Amino acid sequence: METHLESGTTVPMQVVGRVEIADGIFELTLRHDGFHFEPGECVVIFGPEGVSRPYSVASSPAEHGVLRVLYRRMPDGLLTGWLCERQPGDSMMVSYAFGDFRPNAETRSQEHSPVFIATGVGIAPFLSTVRDGRIHASRPRCLYGVRHLADVVDRELLGRCCELQLAVSREKVDGVHHGHVDALVQALDVNLPRDYFLCGLDTMVYAQSDWLEAQGVPAERVHTEVFFTAS
Ligand SMILES: Cc1cc2nc3c(=O)[nH]c(=O)nc-3n(C[C@H](O)[C@H](O)[C@H](O)COP(=O)(O)OP(=O)(O)OC[C@H]3O[C@@H](n4cnc5c(N)ncnc54)[C@H](O)[C@@H]3O)c2cc1C
Repeated sequence: METHLESGTTVPMQVVGRVEIADGIFELTLRHDGFHFEPGECVVIFGPEGVSRPYSVASSPAEHGVLRVLYRRMPDGLLTGWLCERQPGDSMMVSYAFGDFRPNAETRSQEHSPVFIATGVGIAPFLSTVRDGRIHASRPRCLYGVRHLADVVDRELLGRCCELQLAVSREKVDGVHHGHVDALVQALDVNLPRDYFLCGLDTMVYAQSDWLEAQGVPAERVHTEVFFTAS
């Protein structure tokens, strides 16, 4: 039976597997005995010697007993380095799910589909939302910036469920915007009443949320989640 964990609670989860889906980008699958979360929420993973870091859940709540996170291995990163050494069957402590970044269109205006804007592993909360399925009817726009085309996670699903536009910054790919996702954001028709969800690197999230608001998009329609700081 699923339980909604109280604030401050942690639970042990067992590693099912870890897959390197692109160079330095991993998907970690954990098994749990009952854990409630909504698409867009985060968990804190506890590593050795008091190191803990938040990660956005990338899987759907409908995947019974399983929780997946996407992470980029950071050079000398304490927690991501440790995650890369975990083996199937290893245990780790994971916090309750939390956060108010909820890209699920059902809780938002139905007038126009939302716009998802991600850099890198910032796609995780949007994958959770799309994998959840409750958003399919509204077919969101998804603007997704990566360094290399191979870094795109679950392109087939995103292409099927969203109006997907990619921006690839470190290689030229036919038919794909070469550069940062910012240019795709600034080509949007901002006059439509809809919600914007931005997730990933701080420089993109802050610059593009400021730009949207400067174009007259109400602040309550601009939702942000910062994973990394560029400096
Ligand atoms: C709400 C939220 C959700 C997140 N979700 C995700 C997610 O889904 N996936 C994901 O990959 N990440 C996510 N993150 C980021 C994640 O929490 C970690 O910050 C990230 O994985 C790096 O952790 P680490 O311990 O491996 O690296 P750290 O040990 O924290 O180091 C990170 C980098 O900074 C460098 N560094 C560290 N300290 C210094 C210093 N003093 N001076 C100079 N350089 C330094 C290191 O060398 C390394 O390159 C999220 C963050 C937030 C806030």
